Amino acid sequence: MNTSTSLKAFEKAQTLIPGGVDSPVRAFSSVGGSPLFIAEGEGGYLKDIDGNRYVDFVQSWGPLLFGHRDESIEKAVIDAVKHGLSFGAPTEAETNLAELVVSFFDSIDKVRFVSSGTEAVMSAIRLARGYTRRDDIVKFTGCYHGHSDCLLVQAGSGAATFGNPSSPGVPADFTKHTLLAEYNNIESVKKCFEDSNDIACIIIEPIAGNMGLVPADKEFLQELRKLCDENGALLIFDEVMSGFRATLNGAESITGVKPDIVTLGKVIGGGMPVGAFGARAEIMAMLSPEGPVYQAGTLSGNPVAMAAGFAALTKLKKNPQVISVLNERAKRLVEGMQKEAESCGIKMQVDTRGSMFGFFFNENEVKNFDDATKTDAKLFAKFHQAMLNEGFYFACSLYETGFISTATTDAMVEDAIKASAKVFKEITK
Ligand SMILES: *Cc1c(COP(=O)(O)O)cnc(C)c1O
Repeated sequence: MNTSTSLKAFEKAQTLIPGGVDSPVRAFSSVGGSPLFIAEGEGGYLKDIDGNRYVDFVQSWGPLLFGHRDESIEKAVIDAVKHGLSFGAPTEAETNLAELVVSFFDSIDKVRFVSSGTEAVMSAIRLARGYTRRDDIVKFTGCYHGHSDCLLVQAGSGAATFGNPSSPGVPADFTKHTLLAEYNNIESVKKCFEDSNDIACIIIEPIAGNMGLVPADKEFLQELRKLCDENGALLIFDEVMSGFRATLNGAESITGVKPDIVTLGKVIGGGMPVGAFGARAEIMAMLSPEGPVYQAGTLSGNPVAMAAGFAALTKLKKNPQVISVLNERAKRLVEGMQKEAESCGIKMQVDTRGSMFGFFFNENEVKNFDDATKTDAKLFAKFHQAMLNEGFYFACSLYETGFISTATTDAMVEDAIKASAKVFKEITK
């Protein structure tokens, strides 16, 4: 495989953009090698600037539920562009998308649009704090909620549940209100409520996709709901990734646990930058200009982005079977690869939710971030590079979830399994 043009492009990018990328994970640092520069996408395929073609199991890290250049989304965007790119005034496109989002989620009466998942979560937390008039929040190690200050935390020293900044540039004062708990471990959450009586909210990815794919146990979510109710805290489901991917109607529809606030992103923009947060009317009424909690955005509800999101969600509404059809395909993919791995003596843990799939080169089942870190990173790096050479583009980090789209065919899945058989043999030689 010749990737010399990508290599050159990366060299130049590094002279102008830190690390050559606008989001760190794209740099391939955890798998070695050099990132591919993309020329175009088509359906289930990506093409790099050297002309190599890959089956795309990343799908822009989630947003592209219908693959690259879906006809109806492309048309909606082009139509919108012809009326102007941005007005900074209300458009019916926002109401249309809002109506659609509300129709999917029982727990959402009203929704506000922003331009990224980070912004959605940041705003949702401010709303929860404003609504409860409390300052502390609980988050789980291994869950990612965007790069805003109070969410870039890591465990502190000793037994303290209060977090420390995980990045320079985040003042310790900004993270001292963030308490850290362990995913799927209710005792660790109870400890947070013992350590603080000022908890505004618990935020969780109910189907975690940022430590690999690690769904929360239903009973764990039920316990969280109970703890929140007993302590007057709100429960936020961060479904920026899992929304419209894992389920049609949110994690609440498969767990029976109702969140107070839901954050969305990725699929909701159909490939354009859109995030959103929604809740019941009483909570959303706290938001400016209806209420006192300030939140704003010059390009929020951008008409072109709204059009893309509306086209994507309309298509999903008309084809709700997409979630289960893609789940069958995703299962086939990871279970097929798992079988090939095992025949080479490699232990692989696999799971799927809708069109999301995850795999770990682990001996044991993964229930939290600590388990996830026990995955064989060297083996993953080899697997990633070798699959790339075979024409299969997997996420370039072992803590990421994989995605398929409606453009990912059964044949692509079968080919990927066959390639994995060859690759596992190669890398265990
Ligand atoms: C991707 C993601 C975010 C951040 O969204 P951006 O659009 O990258 O800012 C937040 N939460 C979850 C669960 C995500 O997967």
